[in-house]
This record gives sequence, structure tokens and C-alpha cells, in this order.
Amino acid sequence: MPEPTYPAMIDTLGALIDHGMGAFMACPICLKAGRPDVRDLDRLAGHLGRDWCFINRRWPIKCATCGESNVKVRITAPAPPHPNVR
Ligand SMILES: [Zn+2]
Repeated sequence: MPEPTYPAMIDTLGALIDHGMGAFMACPICLKAGRPDVRDLDRLAGHLGRDWCFINRRWPIKCATCGESNVKVRITAPAPPHPNVR
């Protein structure tokens, strides 16, 4: 399976939210990984501004489990629609 790709113009929080993209975070300390809540992205956008560019930046997100602030965040594509599934 190839890595899911996403349009290269998505490089800010605002674009991320507008395109319905998600994020996947992984903690290097307690190894907990998961998706931050969408509301967390909204709150980040409110805090940092929708123009905050996340390319090559460290996300100001803390691990909900151990409080580690150096979590890795990857942008993920939205779940693909399944037009054949009702
Ligand atoms: Zn952690």
C-alpha cells in the first residue's frame, strides 16, 4: 500500500481543516499513538491562527497520556468515500 497522498498546497492549519484532513500523532515516550480530536485542531487554529504553517514545524501538541510535548504529527488523508456502500 502506498502512503496516502494529499495536495501539496495543504500546508496550513486552515487548509487542513477546510479539506477535512486529519492528523495522526505518535508519542516517542509512551508510544501512544492516535488521532487528535478535530476540536483540538480547531482550538489550535484559534490559538495559532489558520495561517500557521505546519511544514517542518513542531506541533504545539502535548501527549494526552504522559504530557510529552515533542510528539510527532503526520497529516493524513480523510477517509475515502465509499460510493458503493450504503
Ligand atoms: Zn506520551
